[in-house]
Amino acid sequence: MDRYLDGPEAALALRPDQPVYCFRPHVLIEDAKRFQSLFPGQTAYAVKTNGEPMVIKTLVDAGVTAFDVASPAEFEIVRKYSPDAEMLYMHPVKAQSDIRLALEHYKIRTLVVDHEDEIVKVLRVCRAIDIDHTQVTVFVRLQTKGHAAYELSKKFGAAPSHAVDLLRRLHRIGFKTGICFHVGSQIEDADTYEKAIASAYWVRTRANVPLVGLDVGGGFPADYGRDPKKTNDFTPGLEALMQSIDGAVKEYDFDDLPLVAEPGRVICARAFSLIVRVLLRKGKRLYINDGIWASLSDSWTGKMTMPARIIPDPTIRRRNGDPEKIVPFKVCGATCDSVDILTRPFYLPETIDTGDWIEIGNIGAYSLSLRSHFNGFYPDTFVEVENAFEIGEAPTGRASLETMGD
Ligand SMILES: *Cc1c(COP(=O)(O)O)cnc(C)c1O
Repeated sequence: MDRYLDGPEAALALRPDQPVYCFRPHVLIEDAKRFQSLFPGQTAYAVKTNGEPMVIKTLVDAGVTAFDVASPAEFEIVRKYSPDAEMLYMHPVKAQSDIRLALEHYKIRTLVVDHEDEIVKVLRVCRAIDIDHTQVTVFVRLQTKGHAAYELSKKFGAAPSHAVDLLRRLHRIGFKTGICFHVGSQIEDADTYEKAIASAYWVRTRANVPLVGLDVGGGFPADYGRDPKKTNDFTPGLEALMQSIDGAVKEYDFDDLPLVAEPGRVICARAFSLIVRVLLRKGKRLYINDGIWASLSDSWTGKMTMPARIIPDPTIRRRNGDPEKIVPFKVCGATCDSVDILTRPFYLPETIDTGDWIEIGNIGAYSLSLRSHFNGFYPDTFVEVENAFEIGEAPTGRASLETMGD
């Protein structure tokens, strides 16, 4: 991989017409180590956030020994870079053939369920391949209600009283049991985890079966920087969240159990920026070479506002307007369909023009992991970059990748 000091240096050297991902391995290591040092339990990186080989390898080298995985491809990539990392198979609804692959081939011994029929599947596989199911830990995923940019409890999780039944059933069969939840991604309320832990306490007390762990899931917010257009924009800091988790763990008597967390976004967001090129400026519209089907998938980046900087093409001699004046541009993506238009604008200097580049920072989470081959466009160029995105000329713009509201 080519190496550069920063995004602007890479853009000016390569003059890329294709999107370029700038990877910052030391930032990834720093953020992984920071999380590990603050969280009082096991850190299992959520592979779906960004499962690029370079990310998994860097995390393994940095000492991450556990991964939250959800599919055969994720089992494979983790195993490829670490023969002994622990994998937690935390998808509540699994294909039976995938459960079998996990238990038999990958020797995974930790899974999750949120329904009794899923317990039947796991037990059936254990019997079929003759493994001792009393050595298998099955977490029960608890429904939670919190305020996250993406609420995952709508889709998964057992209601508290149902979770009580599931825990008792698992215990009766002989599985080791734990309680887990996932509060959604990019949580916005500092007491989200506390509420979920209170609910886990209610479940634990009523189920009254031995537990081997409490898994608090992911959701830890990345610091994308403030969006000046939002008055209520408040991201709880990681230290404060950890304190609230720590307090809740003590208050609700979970301090006798090993803790697990499954952070994704907070670990890999800052590790990548993305250089896109303005293929055409048409008035207040910018047509760029990336979009919702590639790295700017609205479904995930939806509510985030990332910092962005313009990298002017030095071959453009004459520009109209004031480079200090930041104005909104409508951004049209690379593909031929009319869906590929970002619903919120990018705020950039009014001098931006055809041929300039835009570097979008903090885009390591749920960006390249979601890119598709739609219409034949598949960005896949990576460079390694030394400086963190914030270093150097201050980002003047913002990439507001929001689909809702405004
Ligand atoms: C996606 C996911 C995560 C990671 O969430 P982040 O918000 O990126 O930290 C963790 N656990 C589960 C079960 C997930 O589905």
